[in-house]
Amino acid sequence: MLGRFLRYVRVDTQGAYRVSQRPSTEKQLDLSRMLVDELREIGLSDAELTENATVFATLPGTVATPAVGFIAHVDTTPDVIGAGVSPIVHEAWEGDAIQLPGDSRQVLDPMQLPALAERVGHDIVTSDGTTLLGADDKAGIAEIMAAAAFLARHPERPRAPIRIAFTVDEEVGRGAEDFDLDAFGVAAAYTLDGSGLGELEVETFSAKSMRVTIRGLSVHPGSAKGKLINAVKLASELVMSLPQGRLSPETTEGREGYVHPHRISGNSEEAIVDFIARDHDDELLERHMALLRGLAHEVVEREPRAHVDIEERSSYSNMHPYIEESPRVVEAALEAIRRVGVEPSLAITRGGTDGAVLSSQGLPTPNLFTGGQEYHSVREWASVQDMAAAAATIVELAAVWAEPDP
Ligand SMILES: [Zn+2]
Repeated sequence: MLGRFLRYVRVDTQGAYRVSQRPSTEKQLDLSRMLVDELREIGLSDAELTENATVFATLPGTVATPAVGFIAHVDTTPDVIGAGVSPIVHEAWEGDAIQLPGDSRQVLDPMQLPALAERVGHDIVTSDGTTLLGADDKAGIAEIMAAAAFLARHPERPRAPIRIAFTVDEEVGRGAEDFDLDAFGVAAAYTLDGSGLGELEVETFSAKSMRVTIRGLSVHPGSAKGKLINAVKLASELVMSLPQGRLSPETTEGREGYVHPHRISGNSEEAIVDFIARDHDDELLERHMALLRGLAHEVVEREPRAHVDIEERSSYSNMHPYIEESPRVVEAALEAIRRVGVEPSLAITRGGTDGAVLSSQGLPTPNLFTGGQEYHSVREWASVQDMAAAAATIVELAAVWAEPDP
């Protein structure tokens, strides 16, 4: 599994925001193609890269039961450099702060990272500090691949048929776009896209986004008196009119939602502010969007000569109501985690997954841990031992789903 992981993270699969083509970056498919080849080597002869840029493959079962699905995404976040990843394995880590060699400012300090502090003696994988590691979600891919390879070598173990999917563009909220549920053909699935050991995420945020385009009027500053309508200033006022000290990612945790201006661009003629809004509660999410809409309209109330356009999008919705209808999906995962010798826990995520979209489309898909931590950061790290536990959980899940419904 580690060998696979180190190979996959070296492939640059960084995605891009607001690109209409799919995938958003062609290079994501470099890894997809590599995975098709490796799946065929393992013996999953139907492995294919579909027209919709998804890798599908089947490991036949040894028991005639419905198939179970495992899903991970090949892309990495557009927010952090994903090219030139040089993974480092800190074998049998002794507990000292880990200085990343490529950037002297990047230190993994166990005093500040409780999850790391608990992993003295583990093999810890990091980047060199100049790029992300890509454990999100190549840890999930390596675990699924390693589990499939193990199961293929062990036909004597009773197992349900397994369907594997590797998607693109999860990080830009388009991972499950046009996902062919009929072709996937499973009644239950799991994304391997979580984090801490033993966690099963059964609740995600509901997510929307808003782009506010402010049009002013650009005039030469030397003759601008009474004419210039500066979109840069209007955009700044919009951002500054957001609630202070609350309702932001940096002031909330747990089930608290937020609105978040994550990108601002433009000039005095036209400025664009991109927001996301998140909440576990759909009604509260609607209120957050209404707040943003109101603040955007206030821009033109203050400066009637300006023009404001609002564009809204829905990204995904909380999977919890859908997961609740399929208790066996959760029970099977908790049982598999226990069989690996790990104490399972149910968790909520302050994010979304491909599974959130698939769950709302009728395929219950909670999110399993991968052992990766500090995602979307050059300080991203993963414990090889926790990753192995995730791979073993997949192996056990194949067995649990081969057993009669308790
Ligand atoms: Zn992910």
